Amino acid sequence: MQALTVTPGKKDSLRLREMAEPAPEQGPVLVESLAVGLCGTDMEIVGAEYGEAPPGQDFLVLGHENLGRVLEAPRDLGLAEGDLVVGIVRRPDPVPCKACAAGEWDMCRNGRYVEHGIKGLHGFARERWRAEPEAMIKIDAGLADVGVLMEPTTIVAKAWEQIERIGQRAFFNPRVAAVTGAGPVGLLAALLGTQRGLEVHVFDVVTEGPKPALVRDLGATYHTESLADAGLKADVLIECTGLSPVVLEALNYTALDAITCLVGVSSPGKMSEVDIGQLNRRAVLDNSVVFGSVNANRRHYQAAAEALDKADRAWLQRLISRRVPLADFAEGFAHHSDDVKVVLDVHSDPAAGQERQ
Ligand SMILES: [Zn+2]
Ligand SMILES: [Zn+2]
Repeated sequence: MQALTVTPGKKDSLRLREMAEPAPEQGPVLVESLAVGLCGTDMEIVGAEYGEAPPGQDFLVLGHENLGRVLEAPRDLGLAEGDLVVGIVRRPDPVPCKACAAGEWDMCRNGRYVEHGIKGLHGFARERWRAEPEAMIKIDAGLADVGVLMEPTTIVAKAWEQIERIGQRAFFNPRVAAVTGAGPVGLLAALLGTQRGLEVHVFDVVTEGPKPALVRDLGATYHTESLADAGLKADVLIECTGLSPVVLEALNYTALDAITCLVGVSSPGKMSEVDIGQLNRRAVLDNSVVFGSVNANRRHYQAAAEALDKADRAWLQRLISRRVPLADFAEGFAHHSDDVKVVLDVHSDPAAGQERQ
C-alpha cells in the first residue's frame, strides 16, 4: 500500500512509498484512511525540525489529524465495518506513568509517550492502519465530510475544559473571550467559545480571504487591530499564534481574575525586552492565571465529537479550504494565501488509484 513518509532529521525527504500492509499484531481493528489534515507540526516534520521514526525504522509515515473507516473489526468491540473512526494521536508511555495509567496521556509525566505521525509511531497518511479499539474513537456517520477536523478540535476542547476547571478556583462567570489567531485552531477555539454562550473576539492580521467571514458567521467579532488597541478586557484569552509579540500582549491585556491559555507554540531563540516587574504586578494584583495546554485524551475526543456535532456543518466545511489527493501531496504542502485547513484525501475511488500505478 502507499504511504506518505519522511526520513526524520532529513530535510525535504517527503515522498510516497510502498509499504507493507499493517501487521495483525498492531491490533484487531483494520481501518481505511479517508483523510489527513495538515498543520504546522507536519511542516516542522517535513522541515526536519521535529519527528521521530518508530524504533528500528528509518522512516515515519506522516499524518496525525485523521479520519478513517473501519474495514474489519471483531464482534463485541463496539465497532463494525463501515463505522467512521478517528485515531487518537498520542498513546500512553510503556511504563506507564501515573497520568498515562489514569488515561491522561496528554499530561504524561515521563515524556516517553508516542504520537502517530509525529513521535515513534506511524501516522495515518497511508491507505490502511490497524489498532486496538481503545486507540480510536467512533464518530457520527453524518460527520464524514468534516470528521478530519476532530483532532484540532480536541486541542481546543482540552483548552476549554482546563479553563473551566481552573475557573473553579473561585467565583467564575466569564462573559468575554478573546482568541488570538484565526487559523483552524483559533477558529475552532472561537466556535467552542460561542457554543458556551460567550461574547467572542478573534484577532488576526489578515483582512482578505475567508477568515473574517468565518469569524463573523459564528456571531463573533473579527479584529485586525492589536489586543491593546481594541481595549478589550477578556475574561478568557486563548493564544493560538505562538508569535512572541502577540504572546506578550496576551500576557498583558486581560480582565481581573482572567485565565489565559497558551496553545500556540513559539520558536525559541528570539530575544525581546520584557518588563518582568509589570508582568508580575499584573499577575499578582489581577489574580491572573496563564497556563499552557497541548494534546488531548479520550475525554477531549468525546467533547470534540459533541462540539462538531452541534456546530453548523456548512461552517465546518468552509474551514477545509482545499482537499488534495494523496498523490498530489506536494500541492497540499504548497502555501496558498487563502488556506485555512488543507486536507489530503487518502482514499480515492479505484479508478483514480489505477491512474497512479
Ligand atoms: Zn495538527
Ligand atoms: Zn506517561
